[in-house]
Amino acid sequence: MERTLAIIKPDAAKKRIIGKIVTRIEEEGFAIARMRLVHLTKDEAKGFYIVHKDKGFYDSLCEFMSSGPAVVMVLEAENAVKLWREVMGATDPALAKTGTLRRAYGFSIERNAVHGSDARETAAWEINYFFKG
Ligand code: ADP
Ligand code: MG
Repeated sequence: MERTLAIIKPDAAKKRIIGKIVTRIEEEGFAIARMRLVHLTKDEAKGFYIVHKDKGFYDSLCEFMSSGPAVVMVLEAENAVKLWREVMGATDPALAKTGTLRRAYGFSIERNAVHGSDARETAAWEINYFFKG
């Protein structure tokens, strides 16, 4: 079984669609191995998104990610990383395929409802960031 880190971002939590997204996760066949409601500090968001520190959107992204409650989860499935990215859809909701979560619930390329790890190694690092031990 492969593991990936998923986040229901603050825009989706604020819209009260945590339940809808969790339902979709379960319908897609993932097992939820860990799950926690968090309200990140800006420094915690900056640490999580450190790979993007040189991007123009980094500061705004970290403000957004620390703007309210979010849900962090470890999802388990065969090919969990790839499968979760398919269910999420493209980063920009306007370009995401019909039926994906970002197409359905994303507001903008920044406020795009959900996060997913992009590779196995990234997943291990991201899972450890929120769920140590
Ligand atoms: P993904 O979340 O699809 O893996 P990235 O890793 O490239 O996408 O970016 C991380 C997050 O940063 C995105 O989910 C989104 O919230 C935000 N982001 C990415 N690109 C932009 C952009 N051009 N402008 C504003 N925010 C962005
Ligand atoms: Mg990414």
